[in-house]
Amino acid sequence: MFEHPPFRRCPRCKGESFGTLSVGGNSVTKRCKECRYSHSEALPATEKRVIYLDQFAVSELYKTKAKKRRPGAPHEQFWQDCYSLGNLAYLRQQVIFPASNLHSDETIVWHSPEELRLAHEMFSGETSFERTDAIATRQEWEFAKAFLKGGTRPTLSTDVDQIILGTRNAWLPIYHISVNANYSMFAPGLRQDKAIAEASLKHLADGWVSARPTFDDLLKHELSSYGSAMRQALREQITKTQAAFASNDPTSVLDMRFGLISRYRELTELFARNGVPAKDAFKEVLRFLDWPENQHQPAHRIFAYLFAALGWRISSGQRPEMNASILNDFSAISTYAPYVDAMFVDKQCASLLRQGRLRDELGLKARIFSLSSPQEFLDYLKDLGDSATEDIRVLAHELYDAEA
Ligand SMILES: [Zn+2]
Repeated sequence: MFEHPPFRRCPRCKGESFGTLSVGGNSVTKRCKECRYSHSEALPATEKRVIYLDQFAVSELYKTKAKKRRPGAPHEQFWQDCYSLGNLAYLRQQVIFPASNLHSDETIVWHSPEELRLAHEMFSGETSFERTDAIATRQEWEFAKAFLKGGTRPTLSTDVDQIILGTRNAWLPIYHISVNANYSMFAPGLRQDKAIAEASLKHLADGWVSARPTFDDLLKHELSSYGSAMRQALREQITKTQAAFASNDPTSVLDMRFGLISRYRELTELFARNGVPAKDAFKEVLRFLDWPENQHQPAHRIFAYLFAALGWRISSGQRPEMNASILNDFSAISTYAPYVDAMFVDKQCASLLRQGRLRDELGLKARIFSLSSPQEFLDYLKDLGDSATEDIRVLAHELYDAEA
């Protein structure tokens, strides 16, 4: 590491050679490039907002930054403005845009793994979201503990720091070093699941067209299906695992996933530790899955509403373009929207959320933006940048060369 301009008067040798060495946590270390005198100075506390950007937005912003956007591609001005306002708010320590495991959508072509990594680290503030399935598992865990106590459903905290890896309020380092980043979240392997999801979604849509369910029918069905859906998914995973072992095919064994199997094994152990006889513990877990209160698990509940809204649109004659990536958006919204400040998602999802019942009954904490309301998103980003205090602006200018 070496000293970074601007160079100020050194407290020891009095030369104009006292520069910035590094920034970490809530302090900056300065050092003289002549006499090597150094000290740390405290930086003001920050309170960064958290925004989820969908894969498409991450890609557009990265291409804007790298000047790789095709000239004349749609919304050129919007993405440019979005990049500069987002970057300013980011350097002024007002916001971070953490990377997510959902960002592995394969419909967007990346030229190299390096590019994918750079795109996701660009505005991440050295953080990432915890995996979506881990967040849902933790919600289920809290509900299971309440079930064991025989009581009422728990009230879950919506503190965003619970779902972020890394330190949200640390000042951005001047040198971004991505040694600890774990990009296994972007590993391939989703393709097959995606094809299955797409096929079953089409199948469902055909059913909605012929049966014409109402929003209420769909919602009730979705909300009450927690137990049956989980049991079915678990059954499928067990069957696949057994088949893989029986097949003696090394690749199918490597493809195996134990997510749900270990999730319910851990829950069974929790039940056994809490006074349920070991031999009955798994049976009791299955009984818990059918607990009606599970319809209040945030991720499950929001997903059910979105799914019902989509189904209702289709059943009432609209046939929106549908592919499995809408399920990715549903996962993002249902997992992150109770915790984050804002989300930028696909237009269709944003419009489902504006539907009366969803707006009134879900009470999402996150503000939802999309390409349908580009100016609102730009205004939001601008307000964030503008909300930095004078001393933070001066420091952002000095440390990161942010516009003063
Ligand atoms: Zn000096």
